[in-house]
Order: sequence, then structure tokens, then C-alpha cells
Amino acid sequence: MHQCAHCHGSGLRLGRKDALAPCNCVLRTIFRVCYRRFVACATQERHLSQVGLEPQLGRQRPMTWGRKDEEYMADFCLVSRRSLDDFEYRLFRYHFLLGADWKLCCRRLDMERGNFFHAVYRIEQKLGRVFRELEPYSLFPLDEYFRGPSRFQAAEASLPRSLNPSALPERLRFPAVAQIA
Ligand SMILES: [Zn+2]
Repeated sequence: MHQCAHCHGSGLRLGRKDALAPCNCVLRTIFRVCYRRFVACATQERHLSQVGLEPQLGRQRPMTWGRKDEEYMADFCLVSRRSLDDFEYRLFRYHFLLGADWKLCCRRLDMERGNFFHAVYRIEQKLGRVFRELEPYSLFPLDEYFRGPSRFQAAEASLPRSLNPSALPERLRFPAVAQIA
């Protein structure tokens, strides 16, 4: 953000030991992008949900069909629950998952307006970082999560040579996404 008072649009700030770190405005933006996608997944018509061909690690069949949107929503919630403390999670649940506005949240959580918005910023920054740095598959960037090469390459490396998609004709390779009408 050009108007950011800390990084003035560079997206970077000096962290501990003068190491460059992502600015909080970047972390909040990452959270908001992931949250918008979560809301879009949660509110879409079910029949528009996409099924993607997704590689599976381990001894199971090398490829399996999974509903990426549903997996994404589950990941979004589980990762948030794991990363926030109890108070932060209550606020996250009321405000982001249940859609309560600041007035309702302040009443429910018995807090001042200023403290509410500070807490929202803190939660957005915390989760933005977690969504980006999550191992082995980060939620952000979204296009990589949904059909990027990272999962594929990891799975491809574990496949026997005969099943290795690099050996397949171009048109049969991942990613293949089918639309269910
Ligand atoms: Zn900034």
C-alpha cells in the first residue's frame, strides 16, 4: 500500500537484526485475499463447485478426485483455529466466520471499539503470515493452492516412472479441472 506509514509501498520493513521482513500491510492483504476466497467458496451455489484432479501422496492411488473448494474452507478454518489463542479465535469466529459487526462483537466480548479494531489487525497479520508460510502447502498464493505446480511436483517425484506424468502426452497432464454443471 503506497499510503502505508511503515513501508510506503515497498512491502518490506526492517525486522529483527536488520533483516528484511514483510510489512504488516502485506500480511493483512494476504489474509484479506484468502478471506475473500473463503467467503466466495462458502456462499457459492453448490453445483458450481469445481472438482480438480489432484495428486495424492503415499501408497494410495496416485491421483484422486477432491473438492478443492471444500478442502480450502476446511484448511482456512482449521489453520486459523490452530494459530489463534482462545480470545482471538472467539473474535475471529464472531466477526469473520459469523459476520458480526464491531458493535455486536464489542458487546459479546465486552471490549472497546478501539481494542476491537486493534485485535482485528493483529489477527489479520498473524493469519496472513501463517497462510503464506504454511508447510508443506501454503494457502497463499491462491492459484498455487488451487491448481499450481507445487503439490503436483511433490507428488510427481514420488510416482513410479511408469506413472510419471512427465511421460504422458501434454493433454493428459495435470492440472486438469472439470466443471460439474
Ligand atoms: Zn506497509
